[in-house]
Amino acid sequence: MEQISLSILGSSSAIPLSNRSPSAQFLSIADEHFLIDCGEGTQVKLRQHRIGFSRIKHILISHLHGDHFYGLIPLLTSLQLLERQQAVHLYGPQELEEVLRTFLKMTQAKIQYPLKFHPLNKNSKTLIYESEQLEVHSFPLRHSVDCFGFYFQEKARPRKMNKELLEKLDIPVAEIRGIKNGKDWLDKRGKRYPNEELTLDPPAAFSYAYCSDTLPVKHLHRYFKGVDLLYHEATFLNKDRERALATTHSTAEQAAEIAEICDARYLLLGHFSARYRNLDPIIEEARTIFKRSYEAREGYRFYLNRDRESLQMEKESKY
Ligand SMILES: [Zn+2]
Ligand SMILES: [Zn+2]
Repeated sequence: MEQISLSILGSSSAIPLSNRSPSAQFLSIADEHFLIDCGEGTQVKLRQHRIGFSRIKHILISHLHGDHFYGLIPLLTSLQLLERQQAVHLYGPQELEEVLRTFLKMTQAKIQYPLKFHPLNKNSKTLIYESEQLEVHSFPLRHSVDCFGFYFQEKARPRKMNKELLEKLDIPVAEIRGIKNGKDWLDKRGKRYPNEELTLDPPAAFSYAYCSDTLPVKHLHRYFKGVDLLYHEATFLNKDRERALATTHSTAEQAAEIAEICDARYLLLGHFSARYRNLDPIIEEARTIFKRSYEAREGYRFYLNRDRESLQMEKESKY
C-alpha cells in the first residue's frame, strides 16, 4: 500500500456535539485495517464514511471511559446480525472482558463468531500484533484510569532491484534471486558489483502513534521517535491547563511539545472539549510550537504518500 490513511470518525471528548462525536478512528496501514476506539455512534460513522463492516478485524480500545467504548457492544452485536464468520480481535484493558461478558449475559445477546480478547499490559510497551509487514505495540499513558496508546509500524521492506543497472550489465535471470537475497555479482571478467549498487533503498516504512487520553508523557519519544503521524489529544487550551491537569488531559501546547520531542513529522490534534465550539485557537496554539499541526477533523480521511511531502485530507463522510 502506497499510503497510510486515517479516517476520523469522532474527535470529541466526553460529551458529543451536533458536529462532533466521541473518539473513533479507522486506520489503514500495510494493507491492514484497525478500528481505534469506538465511542457512541461509531457504527453510523462507519456507514457515513462508507467503511464496510467486513473490514473490521482488529478493534483497539484505549481505556474504559464511555467516550472511547460505548459504541463497541452495538457494533459487535451488529456483526452477529450480519452473520459474521471471521474472527474479531479485541485489544483493551483487562476489565473490558468482564464488561462484555456481563452485558452479553444480561441481555442474552449471542455472539457466535470468534471474538478473541487480548488484555493490554499496563506496565510497559508491549507487542500486541505482528504480521509479515507490520508490528503494533501498546504502551501505558497517564490518565485517571488505566489508559493505553498504540503504535503501528510497518516493517522494513526488502531492497528494490536497480533495474536500469541490471539491464545494462545484462545479468542472467537465474542470478536475480541471489541478488534479491543480498548477494554481490561477478561479471565474466571477474569484476565485482556490490549488492548496494545492484539494489536501491526500499521506501521508508510508515508509522502512526495514537495517544488519547493522557497528561503529557515526556518519555513517549522512547516508544516512537521519528513517527510519521502522531495523534495526540488536545482536550484543552493552555489557558485552561489547570483544568487539564485536574482531569488528566493535555493542552494543545503540551501536545505540540510532545510532537516536537518525538520528532514527529505531522501532528493531528483531537479529543476536543465541548467548551470550544471554534477549534482554530487550539490549532494555532499548537502551531506556535509545532508547525505541522492539524485538526483531526471529523468526516475526513487523512493520508500520507510515501514521499511524505504533505499531509493530505479529503472529505469522506456523506453527511
Ligand atoms: Zn476521553
Ligand atoms: Zn478518558
